[in-house]
Amino acid sequence: KGTIAESEQVIKKYLEKVEKPTEEACIICMETLNVASGYADAAESKHMKPTAVGKLTKCGHTFHQLCMLAMYNNGNKDGSLQCPSCKTIYGEKTGTQPKGNMEIFLIPQSLPGHQDCGIIHIVYTIHPGTQGPEHPNPGKPYSARGFPRHCYLPNNERGKLVLELLKLAWARRLIFTIGISSTTGESDTVVWNEIHHKTEMSSNMSGHGYPDPNYLDNVIAELAAQGVTEDCLNM
Ligand code: NAD
Ligand code: ZN
Ligand code: ZN
Repeated sequence: KGTIAESEQVIKKYLEKVEKPTEEACIICMETLNVASGYADAAESKHMKPTAVGKLTKCGHTFHQLCMLAMYNNGNKDGSLQCPSCKTIYGEKTGTQPKGNMEIFLIPQSLPGHQDCGIIHIVYTIHPGTQGPEHPNPGKPYSARGFPRHCYLPNNERGKLVLELLKLAWARRLIFTIGISSTTGESDTVVWNEIHHKTEMSSNMSGHGYPDPNYLDNVIAELAAQGVTEDCLNM
């Protein structure tokens, strides 16, 4: 996916050229910005010079253009960039979640700590399969343990907002990824991807249950870190 020219276009879209680079270090290659990129050989580019420096348009952090290109080509090349210094996202970040299903049900009971409303029940189903080019070991199989996975939200205003954000995160393939499970140590398996879910409804044995008064705020912040915010829902 993505030709060299397409990758270069993404870099050019989000970085403006810096005419007089300073002695500040590029945090991708650790060389100073007034010398050549440490990734000049690794990055295949016809048009970018090893000494070219660019500044990200929103956050203003600066890097060698070829370092940014190497970083972009090392990712899933979805047309978006994330600043390696401050994590600001440019464009629409997507993930590598394998194909599956997200289903939503309502349960006429209450969660501990949310006695005044019902429960939103989310069921994620993912089956084992073969890794694509966006995964750690393309062509190798991946396992999918503990599916379907059941998750719970309070059915109140903020819970409903989180549900809508999670649907968007699912569509952008951000809820799961393929990697090493930190719980089991297994590699090439489907794992949660930095957006925490509550998988216990009426107990809290794993720490992934209720009550947790900060949960909705925390997960909203985790979604925002992936570029999924309330603003995206109104567009
Ligand atoms: P992981 O162990 O690599 O951890 C990734 C993230 O998921 C971490 O942030 C961790 O805090 C969180 N996490 C770990 N256990 C969780 C749990 N039980 N509920 C919610 N979040 C959890 O991630 P993983 O390998 O995807 O999942 C951890 C383990 O939990 C796996 O062994 C999986 O099979 C199991 N699990 C089972 C079910 C089920 O319904 N049977 C549901 C969720 C997770
Ligand atoms: Zn650099
Ligand atoms: Zn930045």
